[in-house]
Amino acid sequence: MEQFDIVVIGAGAAGMMCAIEAGKRGRSVLVVDHAKAPGEKIRISGGGRCNFTNIHTAPANFLSANPKFCVSALRRYTPKDFIALVDRYGIAHHEKTLGQLFCDGSAMQIITMLLSEMDAAGAKLRLDTAVDRVTREGEGYELALSSGANVRCSSLVIASGGKSIPKMGATGFGYDIARQFGVGVVETRPALVPLTFEVKTLERLAPLSGVALDAVVQHGKTRFREGMLFTHRGLSGPSILQISSYWREGDEIRIDMAPGVDALATLKAARTATPRRAASTVMATLLPQRVAQVVSDDEGAQGNIADCSDKVLGRLAAAVNAWTFKPVGSEGYRTAEVTLGGVDTNDLDSRTMQAKAVPGLYFIGEVVDVTGWLGGFNFQWAWASGWSAGQAV
Ligand SMILES: Cc1cc2nc3c(=O)[nH]c(=O)nc-3n(C[C@H](O)[C@H](O)[C@H](O)COP(=O)(O)OP(=O)(O)OC[C@H]3O[C@@H](n4cnc5c(N)ncnc54)[C@H](O)[C@@H]3O)c2cc1C
Repeated sequence: MEQFDIVVIGAGAAGMMCAIEAGKRGRSVLVVDHAKAPGEKIRISGGGRCNFTNIHTAPANFLSANPKFCVSALRRYTPKDFIALVDRYGIAHHEKTLGQLFCDGSAMQIITMLLSEMDAAGAKLRLDTAVDRVTREGEGYELALSSGANVRCSSLVIASGGKSIPKMGATGFGYDIARQFGVGVVETRPALVPLTFEVKTLERLAPLSGVALDAVVQHGKTRFREGMLFTHRGLSGPSILQISSYWREGDEIRIDMAPGVDALATLKAARTATPRRAASTVMATLLPQRVAQVVSDDEGAQGNIADCSDKVLGRLAAAVNAWTFKPVGSEGYRTAEVTLGGVDTNDLDSRTMQAKAVPGLYFIGEVVDVTGWLGGFNFQWAWASGWSAGQAV
């Protein structure tokens, strides 16, 4: 039977980083993944350019039942550390917006870099290999692999990611292993995911599919100002994906489709200055044309702006600055970028990622109940948690 110091399950962002660090410290490392290629989510991330970190990364950019858990790892392995690695490989990158760093070229450059680092660190990679069974054997672990081989290790690192995009091989494997060893799992749900409308709203807003605009999207006290997109199912775009991590079924969200503009004042001024203009034409100074038309029709503002009462203007302005509604659901794990919830951080050591009650068992990356905002934060968590475990195993 083969014996390794460390077996990492999952050749994603977190697993590869952990393998590199553990290998550099002279440990024998095997990374096992059931996919045919490593880092598939890195490959498709950021529209193929991988938003690999965010220079403004701070604990406040993460959701977790224990918001303090991520502090140690994020402090020890920072965006600067990852940027230094990327620079060492001469991978050109740029800040797109809000501190988000993307490759100028392809996300494949990041995967190639990680594979080279793994190679240099002596870590082995076995793809197309599922783990059928994990058992505790003495001080270590024994794994039955789908190849028929059994391997033993002193430390087992679970880096199998969350449930999002099952088509790409995402499974609930990590949560099952946690439960098997008595480690808690916080309820999971799709996050960074488009939200959907109920049928009637969908029919009404069908003409808007494809329209994008700048918006402030708010849930309770949490608000994001980024792009928003009408889709044929509901709403998407960065601001909606961000708020989806906070939204729960039955909750309202509020959208300002003309941030920083007082729609009521604009409409009233237009009624005085240009009374003969169609209300929808005036609304189109605040909103994209198609949205302006639908909102004007909805609020019964079909004629000239002069014909609109204060009450109608009030309704139009509210639709622009404070459109409030209840999404019916989300598009689910099929399109979600990440999984909220996961392995309970109360059961993990925040410095090493080791399960407190199960020596030698580690959880890193998205499988853990630490979920970042959109914008490179999730990869930074994967690097930082993988790095921290890599120092400890
Ligand atoms: C479309 C999309 C775009 C994204 N873009 C960005 C972005 O630009 N920036 C950002 O920060 N985040 C982005 N994310 C989120 C980011 O990809 C994840 O947070 C990150 O990949 C998590 O890393 P991980 O290593 O924990 O898990 P993963 O990268 O998901 O890796 C898990 C690995 O485990 C393997 N695995 C799963 N189950 C098993 C099993 N039973 N046996 C063996 N192997 C198994 C999988 O095949 C996979 O290779 C995006 C996500 C998606 C879906």
